Amino acid sequence: MRWSQYFIPTLREDPADAEVVSHRLLLRAGLIRQLGAGIYSYLPLMQRSALRVMQIIREEMNAVGGQEFFLPALHPASVWIESGRWTAIGDDMFRLKDRKGAEMCLGMTHEEVFTSIARHELRSYKQLPQVWYQIQTKFRDEPRPKSGLMRVRQFTMKDAYTFDVDREGLDRSFADQREAYKRIFTRCGLKFAIVEASSGSMGGSESNEFIVKTPAGEDSIVSCVNCDYAANIEKATSRLPTIQDEAGPDAPEEFPTPGVRTIEDLTTFPGGAAADRQIKTLVYVMTTQDGEQRPVLALLRGDHQLHETKLADSLGATQVRTAQPEEIRDLLSASAGSLGGVGAKQTAREAKRGLVIIADTGLKGRRNMTTGANKDDHHLRGVDIERDIEPDSWADLRTVNTGEACPRCDVGTLEVYKGMEVGHIFKLGTKYSESMGARVLNQDGKEVPIIMGSYGIGVERIISAAIETHHDADGIIWPRSIAPFDAVVTITNIKQPEMRDAGEKLYADLQRAGLDVLLDDRDERAGVKFKDADLIGIPFRITVGKKITSGDVELFDRAAKASTDVKLSDVVERVQSLALAGL
Ligand code: ATP
Ligand code: MG
Repeated sequence: MRWSQYFIPTLREDPADAEVVSHRLLLRAGLIRQLGAGIYSYLPLMQRSALRVMQIIREEMNAVGGQEFFLPALHPASVWIESGRWTAIGDDMFRLKDRKGAEMCLGMTHEEVFTSIARHELRSYKQLPQVWYQIQTKFRDEPRPKSGLMRVRQFTMKDAYTFDVDREGLDRSFADQREAYKRIFTRCGLKFAIVEASSGSMGGSESNEFIVKTPAGEDSIVSCVNCDYAANIEKATSRLPTIQDEAGPDAPEEFPTPGVRTIEDLTTFPGGAAADRQIKTLVYVMTTQDGEQRPVLALLRGDHQLHETKLADSLGATQVRTAQPEEIRDLLSASAGSLGGVGAKQTAREAKRGLVIIADTGLKGRRNMTTGANKDDHHLRGVDIERDIEPDSWADLRTVNTGEACPRCDVGTLEVYKGMEVGHIFKLGTKYSESMGARVLNQDGKEVPIIMGSYGIGVERIISAAIETHHDADGIIWPRSIAPFDAVVTITNIKQPEMRDAGEKLYADLQRAGLDVLLDDRDERAGVKFKDADLIGIPFRITVGKKITSGDVELFDRAAKASTDVKLSDVVERVQSLALAGL
């Protein structure tokens, strides 16, 4: 490609609204342009990198027996209604009607469509396992599209699905995908961690995310400084020191607490309690799988913070939200600040409301605690949780903090860092095969639901993560495997015939050697050309300048920021061996 003809609209200035590095550089280096919120056009340089990423993914999927499909992005509602997700998924789904008024949606993932194929065609265990995948556009109406390509409303996902006859088969398929993912991210030049993740409310058991550590990431990852424990904060736990409570009264005692609104207020109130001796009471409204709304009381130790994903996961809810002040008053006849679990079910029943009480496991066995009395400006002391509240269930609801003890090893403490999810693998089990009727005959001639797994990678996330972790003040430093070009040949003065001819010949020779090459044949100052080449981040720049008179060119390594003089006659072989090394 000749730069003079190629479309690379670089920008001199940093775009005003781009906060994260990858967003800024994708715009400045002329890779993308925005069309709308979370909607981007991919310009030629971006498309070249994306195709390389997709090719790496394709090779590694094929290597574990993957068969490439291409399914529609436009779905009839029917398959989503069958799986239950038409109601379970809220506003993230783009929905539309066709001209006859039939409900449709744009695919945000493809479990339903793949399962609809499997159920008609797969009949016997002899046909299993099957490993199906595609690289295709997904649509998600994200509430907060941001950070360039990291969270967009239209993106490219590799999604794979495995179909096995039993759990052991799924374990093998899952392990194959996990290994393939490691190779994909490594080949794309990314350093990553594999962490335990929430399976969400959408079914599934084991779930791992592939996370690239970067301050631009939106996920918080908890990892042990000593052992290999690592989990998304949505799933992470920690070991709490045990607290021995002295015995309290036989029944809770009410006492007036005028002006006390918060946990903190009660710690300084005369006759109050330390935060770890209080029960924090939070009122939520959950949306059940059937789309119903139900009030929930979540109880935690006063000094602990709730994690909403953990709450939703443990309730099997599709969504949770904090209750409005009026809803709280209707339910418990008191305001936030004076709420508690004691007698809450009774009060809610009187208000003709069903109430679910869920307590954090950090409260298990605690007694003689202090909490709100469900009466404004009053609290109760001497509360024994099991005796006085009887929660419907216990679950891990607490957000882990830096410095807490590792739940896995004896000595380690936990640290929390920011990361970007680039891939996610999950054991689905029978959620879709059962709801959609995908069954096969097993070895004993018995009909069983197919055991499924689902595995996603975001192509744009790989590119964003690569830029976030490989750049400097001058621009992008592409990992060689996913760079839009292997090398750029820069002719410093295009009007100089000797330079021009040598540059042209080198350009042709490098292409013949199998490399993707950009020829900077623009009539621009050398400084401008160097700056642009640094910005777009091509791994090697070969500068054809004055030294050509003695048969030399300059080979500049973008990552090392170092130049060496190389004989024109040797440069093709040098670049070839460098560009292909380790791919
Ligand atoms: P997140 O938690 O970041 O919203 P997710 O859990 O919804 O992601 P999955 O449903 O597991 O994502 O999708 C598989 C992969 O698709 C993710 O690992 C990520 O790489 C990519 N991906 C998901 N949502 C987006 C998006 N809005 N923009 C770009 N890539 C995305
Ligand atoms: Mg995910």
